[in-house]
Amino acid sequence: CGIVGYIGKREAYPIILNGLKRLEYRGYDSAGIALFDGDEIQLCKTKGKVADLEAKFDKTTTTKGSVGIGHTRWATHGVPNDVNSHPHYSNSGDLVIIHNGIIENYASIKKELINRGYVFKSDTDTEVLVNLIEEVKKKENVKLGKAVQIALNEVVGAYAIALFDRNKPDEIVVAKLGSPLAIGIGEDEFFIASDASPFIEFTNNAIYLEDEEMAIIRRGRDVKIRKIKNDHLVDPYIQELKLN
Ligand code: GLU
Repeated sequence: CGIVGYIGKREAYPIILNGLKRLEYRGYDSAGIALFDGDEIQLCKTKGKVADLEAKFDKTTTTKGSVGIGHTRWATHGVPNDVNSHPHYSNSGDLVIIHNGIIENYASIKKELINRGYVFKSDTDTEVLVNLIEEVKKKENVKLGKAVQIALNEVVGAYAIALFDRNKPDEIVVAKLGSPLAIGIGEDEFFIASDASPFIEFTNNAIYLEDEEMAIIRRGRDVKIRKIKNDHLVDPYIQELKLN
């Protein structure tokens, strides 16, 4: 149960893969990565170890892309298998999400989404969340960040999430309640992780999100942090990490 993300100017794959290895101590049963080069998304996931994921990537998938998200899963809803592993796509294939935590009211939301025609491939609570975000985005005709905010106000549970939209190649949205989430600030690049260990070699500057905060991270620009409940903008508090 760990998350890693990157958006910037380098190839995301080695940063995310090594980041997942650093988070292995947290325990997990599956791992996965989605990469985005602005054109195509490469998604690879598997039950097993990060080394198994690396082997699968080597065989099946190219590793292009300077946007990426990676996940180690500790299954709570749905057995550990390839399909239930993260990342998860929304039904349209536009949104890709990783999630640590539990969406407690996923069953009732899932029922509603099925009534509206959504189809589910996995047994996870996470696939329900990404489709709820997609549904809100369409129905309310709002941007990704707003859709995430509205959706998170409908869910009960705990989460650290990161997601991106195929139509927005310069943006990753993250949010947190209960599970940890740190954002590393580099020069024209941003790192996301459950703790600073995946990005400490690249930057000493980090923002630790508080519970019920979300951030919109834009490549080459800035990080906008908001309170999920009341939409208030939060001044980013950038900490300087000390190496022992
Ligand atoms: N509840 C999600 C699942 O079972 C995420 C679990 C986790 O924290 O890794 O897929």
